Amino acid sequence: MKNRATPLILLCLSLALSGCTLTSHPLDGQRAPGKASSSAEMERQLSQPGIVQLETVNSADWAVALSGGLNLKSPEAIKAGLQDRDEPIQIYAYVLKHPTRGNFIVDTGVSAKVLAQPSEYGLNWLLQYVLHLDKLRINKSTSEMLAPVNGKLAGVMMTHLHLDHIMGMPDIANDVPLYVGATETQESTFNNFFVRGATDTLLKGKRALQEWRFQPDPQNQFEGIVDIFEDGSVFAIQVPGHTAGSTAYLIRTTTGPVLLTGDACITRWGWEHTVEPGDFTSDHERNLKSLKNMKALVARHPEIEVRLGHQH
Ligand SMILES: [Zn+2]
Repeated sequence: MKNRATPLILLCLSLALSGCTLTSHPLDGQRAPGKASSSAEMERQLSQPGIVQLETVNSADWAVALSGGLNLKSPEAIKAGLQDRDEPIQIYAYVLKHPTRGNFIVDTGVSAKVLAQPSEYGLNWLLQYVLHLDKLRINKSTSEMLAPVNGKLAGVMMTHLHLDHIMGMPDIANDVPLYVGATETQESTFNNFFVRGATDTLLKGKRALQEWRFQPDPQNQFEGIVDIFEDGSVFAIQVPGHTAGSTAYLIRTTTGPVLLTGDACITRWGWEHTVEPGDFTSDHERNLKSLKNMKALVARHPEIEVRLGHQH
């Protein structure tokens, strides 16, 4: 028995150590709409009134280890004497109403179905424990959030594909286009080994993922920027590091420009002290650079309202 089990254990170990990609869900060769833009082009338009209505939805209250939301090994966190503890956070989703292109959401919130039967959606007992699912309370489920738009969604723009951002997928129709950052599904990490099954299950039956068509930013303020509707109303911004495809969104709303950082910055303390997220961040150095780029953008344009990954 022992001899037969050994190769299996070795195989599992070597798979875990070499890491794997986040999901086996297919990529759409067509890629996402929009045209490559630049920071100069984007910033030139910030003083003009926008046309998009944006609603921030606090889908769920949650608590996670602070060491997940914030790199406690950073010099700033050490200097401030921060210790690991349970940190109250929120799971946000955003409803965008474009006057001619339709309704979109950024990230997906939480479906009540997932919380009722987590194992049905690939969240096994280990993930339920690691994710502190017992501490997650839904305020507005994804289906409740989508009710006012009559379920008519033109697309979902993802900041990244971590589980806490795709837990609303069961409430989203299978034919809705899903947009993600470049290379989000190609990076191999050790942590992916544990979440890949659940990620695949939550995306099962959905359309192939479409990647934003980023090109290098001519002004080099960011790695790349896409003008999604080619009208300067919504921009996808490459902010890699937390995951390879992490994407922020700059939305020119009717009440002014809003920056959705995604998990390139999770906590308020992290934004104020320029400290990137902690565990589950695949490249800290790259994430910190992305965070600095976003802070520099907001310093140049203080009229931008910033909405962070999990705390406002
Ligand atoms: Zn998150």
